[in-house]
Amino acid sequence: MRPDPETAQTAFVDLPVLREHGVSLYLRREDLLFPQLSGNKYRKLKYNLAAARRQGFGRLITFGGAYSNHIHATAAAGRLYGFETLGLIRGDELQGRPLNPTLADARQAGMELVFLSRAAYARRGTPAFQKTCLARYGPAYLLPEGGTNELAIRGCAEILEPADARFDLLCCPVGTGGTLAGLVRGAAPGQRVLGYPALKAAGLRDELSRFIPGENWELSAHSHLGGYGKVTAGLIDFINGFREQTGIALDPVYTGKMLYALLDDVRSGQIAPGSTILAIHTGGLQGNRGMNLELRKKNLPLLQL
Ligand SMILES: *Cc1c(COP(=O)(O)O)cnc(C)c1O
Repeated sequence: MRPDPETAQTAFVDLPVLREHGVSLYLRREDLLFPQLSGNKYRKLKYNLAAARRQGFGRLITFGGAYSNHIHATAAAGRLYGFETLGLIRGDELQGRPLNPTLADARQAGMELVFLSRAAYARRGTPAFQKTCLARYGPAYLLPEGGTNELAIRGCAEILEPADARFDLLCCPVGTGGTLAGLVRGAAPGQRVLGYPALKAAGLRDELSRFIPGENWELSAHSHLGGYGKVTAGLIDFINGFREQTGIALDPVYTGKMLYALLDDVRSGQIAPGSTILAIHTGGLQGNRGMNLELRKKNLPLLQL
């Protein structure tokens, strides 16, 4: 039988701290599944692309910051599946400047880039703004920032397979919460889901509760390191060390912060000794090139690429 093309590999993570606490940690390598589509972004696009096709659209419009994995993935998906793509990018100061690696890839994949002022970008969620966008750049299928909607959650639930019911705990990074919502939906009875936020937001749990039902999930309180995209020398050293020890590359925005905090939770006993964990490697490695440009400016250690 052919392997299921949508089943990612699962890597056993062998580290002293895990052995000491009797914790078994496995990483679902979504990052390897569709490398051009940056891990979980394929899952989030899958049913949206099918809906766009069914509704007769040949064009996708979406939103994102200059380093956005979602922008990168939407451009790649457009190229792979035959959609025109247009990205509305936060920050009109970027207009006319050399493109960073993320946006250069997006344009290379055929995405048209339009830079918005921060004030305009802040209105991206409003019906009036979206109507204007469609009038100017449509007709098109509109994907939300970060790609999270009901169809995206359905796709993310497919990260899990029946055999994953053996894990006590499922872990993932959290941006908009679509991936977490998918895991909660796909979790087996009795399984707990632990999300590691990449951003600092008071009331994040309440916000996510609006579309993530149930009580079998929670958020880590200390993974964000001060905010979205904020990094420390400790985090970068951790990511480089993790790669040396396991051969697995992480990104500093999502997967690095998750594992940095997760191993801390193992050390502190927050995660019970003896637990068997499946953590999702959601990808995001494309952003490491651009991150290194920022790190160099700040005189921080660089990520080994
Ligand atoms: C977008 C992204 C996330 C966050 O996913 P959400 O569904 O928005 O919570 C996590 N990891 C990576 C690598 C991403 O690109």
